Amino acid sequence: MNIVILGAPGVGKGTCSEILAKKYGIPHISTGDIFRQAVASQSELGKRVKRYLDSGELVPDELVIAVVKERLEKDDAHKGFILDGFPRTIAQADAMKDFKDIHVILNFVADRKKIVERLSGRRTCSKCKSIYHVKNSPPKKEGICDKCSGELVQRSDETPAVIMKRLSVYEQETKPLTDYYRNEGILADINANYDMVEIEKIIKQCERAIQNV
Ligand code: AMP
Repeated sequence: MNIVILGAPGVGKGTCSEILAKKYGIPHISTGDIFRQAVASQSELGKRVKRYLDSGELVPDELVIAVVKERLEKDDAHKGFILDGFPRTIAQADAMKDFKDIHVILNFVADRKKIVERLSGRRTCSKCKSIYHVKNSPPKKEGICDKCSGELVQRSDETPAVIMKRLSVYEQETKPLTDYYRNEGILADINANYDMVEIEKIIKQCERAIQNV
């Protein structure tokens, strides 16, 4: 099953993708994660994409398309995948048609207020990457990961100014994709207006959409 998760930053795509990937035994492929790892390891790719990530702009289409194509050619993706964060522009969606079929698009929808609250309160463990929220799921000890005692940090693209930029980029570049895929009949809207403690409500909707393919 080839699944794409679409939606604004902060709608919970990453967390739900992880859960669904485990349930279906397929890899969770997040372009944002690939780029963040590249930046952290200071690879050639990381050097090329860093300024886009820091400012909340999109990485140029040709570069993202090449990265995703290469990743989807790996053996583990042959039986299916959950693609999170790609495609994000019409050009990327057009390119994807040439190398992979998509069976279902899960379009995560949440209120803007909820999204901003989620992103600005999010803290990530600098070691094991576990995610917390200062109000909704705080660690036992402020600033310290419950699982590995790593330091919790705010991602550089989760400051208020960059959050606003990412949301406006989503509205302009990515939202038009919902009509693109709706017209193809493969898009299912997922109500993501739930806190992470109620995540099963989101997962159930995803499972229903996947079963209906
Ligand atoms: P994300 O974690 O998916 O919000 O991605 C973080 C950042 O990585 C984005 O703000 C972009 O700079 C870059 N990025 C991730 N996926 C894409 C994509 N499909 N096209 C362009 N840029 C991307």
